[in-house]
Amino acid sequence: MGRSFREYEFKKLLRELGSKKGRGTELISLYVPPGRNVYDVVKYLRQEYDQAGNIKDKLTRKNVQGAIESIIQRLKLYRKTPPNGLVVFCGAIPRGADRGTEKIEIYVIEPPEPVPFFKYVCDHEFFLDPLEDMVREKAAYGLIVMDRGGAVLAVLRGANYKIVDRVGSDIPPKHSAGGQSQRRFERIREERVHDFFKRLGARATKAFLPLMPELRGIIIGGPGDARERFQEGNFLHYELQKKVIANVPLSYTEEQGVRELIMRAQDLLREVSLFEEREAVGEVFSLLAKNPDMVVYGIGEVHRALVAGTVAKLLMLEDMDERYTLRRCSSCGRGYLLREAPPEWTCPDCGSSDYSDEEVSLIDYLGELAERTGTDVLILTPGTEWGEQLRALGGIVGILRYRSY
Ligand SMILES: [Zn+2]
Repeated sequence: MGRSFREYEFKKLLRELGSKKGRGTELISLYVPPGRNVYDVVKYLRQEYDQAGNIKDKLTRKNVQGAIESIIQRLKLYRKTPPNGLVVFCGAIPRGADRGTEKIEIYVIEPPEPVPFFKYVCDHEFFLDPLEDMVREKAAYGLIVMDRGGAVLAVLRGANYKIVDRVGSDIPPKHSAGGQSQRRFERIREERVHDFFKRLGARATKAFLPLMPELRGIIIGGPGDARERFQEGNFLHYELQKKVIANVPLSYTEEQGVRELIMRAQDLLREVSLFEEREAVGEVFSLLAKNPDMVVYGIGEVHRALVAGTVAKLLMLEDMDERYTLRRCSSCGRGYLLREAPPEWTCPDCGSSDYSDEEVSLIDYLGELAERTGTDVLILTPGTEWGEQLRALGGIVGILRYRSY
């Protein structure tokens, strides 16, 4: 799925935090789960503060105690733990090569999902695992690998799969009729096939239905034609039946078949997950053909439209995140995004030459502006066909709410 701005921002913040290293074990990570009393946490930190008094190295001691003190001050602003809890990172980050150039930095995060446990760690880097778990790919796919001998059910999330169930069958092999009459044998065989499909359908429902709404699709595969008869016979719960996105022939069964299915389905999965991005870019180009007034592109134009609040959907290529100067005219207040910011400048709007400058990162700035005006934001993956189509328009494009004149 094309990522939302919030998700993009959160991942970017985690990358930034991950790159920070302390000189000693001076960086504090604090995880406060929902419902935990803030006052108790402060009390806990006071004990840690006293403990830190035993640190031999004078500068490390000063840095750790300084960080704890900063956290306590921040926590005092909260009367109650936020609904998902709170995560605080704080520590002395070196600014230069020399000891003593450290500056205390503090980050207070209200995460998108509940903090799972209370934890206080002091290390040379921040402890980010629980937050990284929150941004990991959540979309799930149900896999059914089967033939008449049995079936394996697996769930695929991101690059990892897990086998969740195995269903056996007692269907006799085709040509073991022996002395029995062939017709009677065929009938029994058919009954058992039907029985196996029914059991498999029930077990798949049990395994996959609870995954909704994260379940993005079901893929069936296997040697022979059982996989097709199973799908055509509607043995799955109707909600799941609608989710079948492919049915592919395989050489293997069992776990080896699961791996083969994932390999075969790779392009397909990628396609499904990028569907939203492709749709959005498709919309841009069909508007450009039919109704070009509904599309704005080029940073200046998009910026103006966002300020005016006329953008319905903002599309940005992820790698467009460059530093820009936001120059604000002191006279009329209009802001301009400039790649290069010459000191000699006159406002194109009012002709004034007084201004103030601010460094901004393009995606952050435009994304926040968009959020404030209720604009949907989609961050697109570079390197895809449609991503590159968007790049041809400058990489940042807005679809307007209504025609501009
Ligand atoms: Zn001006």
